[in-house]
Amino acid sequence: MILLPVLALGAVGLWQLRQDRAAALAEARAAVEGKLEEAIQVGSSVLTTGPRPETATAIFSANGEVSWPESIPLVPSPNSASNPHAEKLNQIMGDPRLTLSEQAHALHELASMEDCGATAAGFQVRQLALRNALLFGKEVKIEAVTLRDWAFDLTVDAVKHPTILSEKLLLEAREFNTDPPAKETAWNRALESWDRAHASRQFLQEHGSAIQGLLNGLTNQDDEATLSKWIGTGPGIFFKLRKDPEEISLYALTAEGISQNAATGLKPISLPRHLGIRLTLGDRLVFGDPEAEVLSMANDPMSKVRAEIVFTDRDAFFKPIRQRSVRTAWLIAFAVLAAGIGWFAAWRAFVRQRQLVAMKDNFVSAVSHELKAPIAAIGLMAEELGAGSEKRVEYTRLIAGECARLGSLVENVLDYARIESGSDEFNFEEADLGELVRAAAELMRPPAAERGIEIQVQAPPAGEHCAIVDARAIGRAVVNLLDNAIKYAPSEKSITLTAGGDCISVADKGIPIPASERRQIFERFYRSGSELTRETKGVGIGLSLVSHIAKAHSGKAWVESDKTGNRFILQIGEQCSAPIQ
Ligand code: ADP
Repeated sequence: MILLPVLALGAVGLWQLRQDRAAALAEARAAVEGKLEEAIQVGSSVLTTGPRPETATAIFSANGEVSWPESIPLVPSPNSASNPHAEKLNQIMGDPRLTLSEQAHALHELASMEDCGATAAGFQVRQLALRNALLFGKEVKIEAVTLRDWAFDLTVDAVKHPTILSEKLLLEAREFNTDPPAKETAWNRALESWDRAHASRQFLQEHGSAIQGLLNGLTNQDDEATLSKWIGTGPGIFFKLRKDPEEISLYALTAEGISQNAATGLKPISLPRHLGIRLTLGDRLVFGDPEAEVLSMANDPMSKVRAEIVFTDRDAFFKPIRQRSVRTAWLIAFAVLAAGIGWFAAWRAFVRQRQLVAMKDNFVSAVSHELKAPIAAIGLMAEELGAGSEKRVEYTRLIAGECARLGSLVENVLDYARIESGSDEFNFEEADLGELVRAAAELMRPPAAERGIEIQVQAPPAGEHCAIVDARAIGRAVVNLLDNAIKYAPSEKSITLTAGGDCISVADKGIPIPASERRQIFERFYRSGSELTRETKGVGIGLSLVSHIAKAHSGKAWVESDKTGNRFILQIGEQCSAPIQ
């Protein structure tokens, strides 16, 4: 009954802890709810960030032909049709009447014309005109600003109409982009676009067959709903084809590039402390810790992006919960301990109570028995005397002895009853200790003599040792000790009663009392051995009265036993002032 509420408390505590943990996780999940969607968006755009076609590795027409980047023929295709602009170019270049400066300006003028076309060899007229204008202009030191404008125009045209000369022309034009660079952004954009197209061309060349396979796979599919699809994963390269009604874009990036893009894209997504994002494209992790425990996740089957919110510092996240758990565990442990102690105390009290009840029962039957025997004996002897028995003297002595025993027993029982009811009173007066013990010894001599036992008294002579005591109580205590010595050591022929220095001792030569019982025999009702096998008479309160009387005199009573016998000591006062003999 005591443990039940504690167990219930423990169960509730554990349940509460689980709830606590679940609540903390639910709260954390709610806090990051919108973040997963943002992360999915970042994930699906890491290949296609920026305006097209710059970020697309290649664009194909619906029938699978490359439409961007334009392919550059290794040899320019000759132009058989006559081109007046080309003729004009040759004319300016070969006119000996023109100065270099005039030639440069004339060439630039030609380059400004709409749609200049190509030369007979297949080269772009505008690019050649601008290039030569720059060379002549440089020689005659035309203004740098003008030259820079011309170089910019050449750059844009070389990017727009790529030929095998483009690379060389771009390099030459770059020389005129002097400090401070004019039209910096546009110029750089043009160059970047060139670089990207250049890289794409190389990429297409390297992975041509793989890409063709992907394209075939895609074009064979009639599922127009699948606009975006993971086609495959190359060695460290992700391919992604996006099919629009008119064109197919191929996105390809190295895993490293994707991770970088992902990191940049995910950066603005703010998350609570101890949490982070993990991003998987297809079956490949592109960002985040692969080992981290997942809090919540979202999947986008279309782009095959999986975004997960993970614990970056799991221990720190669970620390407050753990601390609460430890506190609760301690509380439960203390409650269990307290309940355990309570239960143990209750159990002991219960056992003790049961023993006491049993002892009281024994006491009652023992007292009745102790009374019955002498009363019966006295009755018999009185009958005999009445019938004129010749043993008058002996019977009278025996009756007196039995009466003394009865009186002693009744007095013990009455004393015990007074102690129990709390109405015992002690009457302290100065008394002669020597005389006191001698009187007690005299009282016990007849029953001792009956068994052939001699009581030897070692006490100070009359008037030598006086003490403030309750003489009646001390007398009763000594009588009880002597009575026990007579009862429990009958085969030994002498008992020694010693008094001195506020201590009285009774020593017999009986069987030593076991160490385990030396304290218990001073408890009320305690009698060693079982009620059935015990032969000696007694009711089990004699020594408890001795102990009580000793305490009332600020002293104590105890027994010392060894193989020579038992010595009961009654100490009156705080200590024995003379060594006990
Ligand atoms: P009672 O003598 O009526 O049984 P007591 O309180 O006087 O009750 O003694 C308690 C127990 O102590 C006795 O039952 C006995 O076992 C033990 N005892 C007391 N005095 C002696 C003794 N002198 N020698 C051996 N055992 C003793």
